[in-house]
Amino acid sequence: MSDSCDGSYDDFLDALETDDGYYYTCSNGHGTLPPRRVCPHCGDRDLESEPLLTRGKIVTYTTVTVPTPRFEDDAPYVTAIATFGSVRVTGVLLGVEPADVERGLEVTATVTETETTDERTIAFRP
Ligand SMILES: [Zn+2]
Repeated sequence: MSDSCDGSYDDFLDALETDDGYYYTCSNGHGTLPPRRVCPHCGDRDLESEPLLTRGKIVTYTTVTVPTPRFEDDAPYVTAIATFGSVRVTGVLLGVEPADVERGLEVTATVTETETTDERTIAFRP
């Protein structure tokens, strides 16, 4: 494992916030997000840090109208999974009406704070 791959999730959010997002890729080309130390797909421990693509595409999404307590004041909102090259990222979709979301929508990844708890979380914007 290289020294560049011991970042925490907070470090990752810091990087994402400054448009400097990254992900880990294993020797088999699987992508994963920090703070993983082992590829979740094949168990490879030789992870390298790569810059996250600036644009991803929504592959699946869910409109949440009955949220977990953590997101109580944010509902309704859309959670989505977007692919950025070989890595799948889960986040909250902002700036789009839930009815207007569709698969293939291009988004950028950023960081937002939930209205409920002020916790930082990954967000997507078109
Ligand atoms: Zn792998």
